[in-house]
Amino acid sequence: MEHGEPQLIRKSNRKSSSAFFCTMCKQGKMEPLLQEGEPEYTDMFECDQCNHQATIPSLVIISSQLISAIMGGALSVYLFIQNLSKVLTSFQFNTTDKHSLNFTLMVIAALFLVGFGYILYRAFIGISRRKIYKRSY
Ligand SMILES: [Zn+2]
Repeated sequence: MEHGEPQLIRKSNRKSSSAFFCTMCKQGKMEPLLQEGEPEYTDMFECDQCNHQATIPSLVIISSQLISAIMGGALSVYLFIQNLSKVLTSFQFNTTDKHSLNFTLMVIAALFLVGFGYILYRAFIGISRRKIYKRSY
């Protein structure tokens, strides 16, 4: 919650207050690319000096990615372990009747885990990209 000295931000200037800096010319500011008729939100930015364009995901996107990755990942791990223990138990007692179903569910849980891992990866890409563009030269 530390923002240093209190800043006076004009309400009309709200969008450019969250300024990203251009990584190409290192002089320009990344301004949000808004197209007429489109919703206010955009993650496309363009440099006002060299017209370098970049996609910089918003914090809302990143945090929703993190939340869904963590929640979904935890659920997938739970399902994976549950079915893994069932598969191991059926191996142990040599009961093959439910064996293939549990194995299938285990594979599905593993696939979901990979998917949520990818979402998590995307979120960290977004965080690092925000960091790169936030850096002032
Ligand atoms: Zn630039």
